[in-house]
Amino acid sequence: MPGPVTQGTWSALLDLVLPADCPGCAEPGATRALCGPCAAALASATPRRVRPEPEPPGLPRCVALAAYAGTLRGALLAYKERGRHGLAGPLGERLADVVAAAAGPSGRLVLVPVPATAAAARGRYGDHMRRLAGQAAAALRRRGRPAAVAHPLRALPRPDSAGLSSADRLRVAAGAFALSAGRLPALRAAVAAGARPVLVDDVVTTGATLAAVAGVLRAAGVDPQVAAVLAATRRRASWV
Ligand SMILES: [Zn+2]
Repeated sequence: MPGPVTQGTWSALLDLVLPADCPGCAEPGATRALCGPCAAALASATPRRVRPEPEPPGLPRCVALAAYAGTLRGALLAYKERGRHGLAGPLGERLADVVAAAAGPSGRLVLVPVPATAAAARGRYGDHMRRLAGQAAAALRRRGRPAAVAHPLRALPRPDSAGLSSADRLRVAAGAFALSAGRLPALRAAVAAGARPVLVDDVVTTGATLAAVAGVLRAAGVDPQVAAVLAATRRRASWV
């Protein structure tokens, strides 16, 4: 039996019958996921190390593609909030570049996406990071790099963190994730076989979420030393 028509489904249906505006610049009638100049802007960004200020304890070494602004911000919002799933391909390709920059040029990888809460996944027509991590791993494999995705975590219901202080965000984030015990052995086996675990997320702001996820994994015996994100908010983070 089909589920309810979500906002994302509706948006995706509309995209089939109406020419969609470019999500990067709102140029009307883009025929592809992004218009030419926006696709070029996304392609030209270079992954760099980023460090939130203050840096939360336990945050893995974090690499981001670009600031959360302009084309990248527009594309991420359209992908997450308006169900423009065609953007998963180009965003996943660039996430693969960030993963490679964070983890080094060779070796097996296992990507661990930050999970969405069940409520967020419903509101956004699916777990957007799960889909993006799959696209990034596929892009890495096309380039000849062994890469898998593991889902050892689930997100617990939590209050909206908008407007919280850094300390409050850390406290909320620390209780926001739990292990899916049945999925841990696959991740442990991959790491034992030499795969490097890499956390992946869309946007880093305070780093509280990534630090919390890393802490849960470390307590389970898996140490993600690097994290790859698409965007870093300018207000909170500095490029290094
Ligand atoms: Zn555009």
